Amino acid sequence: MTKTHKVHCDCNAVTATMEGQPKVHAFCHCADCRELLQVPYHSVLAWDSEQVNITKGKGKVVEFQHPHKRMTRIFCQLCGDILYNTNAAGWKLVSQLMFMKCNDNNLPEGYQSNAHFFYDRRIVDIDDPLPKK
Ligand SMILES: [Zn+2]
Ligand SMILES: [Zn+2]
Repeated sequence: MTKTHKVHCDCNAVTATMEGQPKVHAFCHCADCRELLQVPYHSVLAWDSEQVNITKGKGKVVEFQHPHKRMTRIFCQLCGDILYNTNAAGWKLVSQLMFMKCNDNNLPEGYQSNAHFFYDRRIVDIDDPLPKK
């Protein structure tokens, strides 16, 4: 059985649907994520490209291609809300904050972060028991 989850933008014009379990669920402290998304660190839920699709409002979606990194962010042209971003590996990354906002403030089992990546590049210290890589 394949589990399906959805996220939608603030104005509800665009919906993205994710199929199956995320392959990575973690916090990423790398400079690329911070710069692309303007966050102190990225709370990542990562799926393979074909597992995440825009299922409503395709015509309202804007894809911003970073000028020199192989990263994009996919957002709604009406409200500016970011549905997901992509990285050089072609993964599609939905933020946990976005996911929770659209799913009763809840992260299902197997979606909670289990590690901090690129912790040595952090700009904020995190005091939690998760492994720091
Ligand atoms: Zn919108
Ligand atoms: Zn990152």
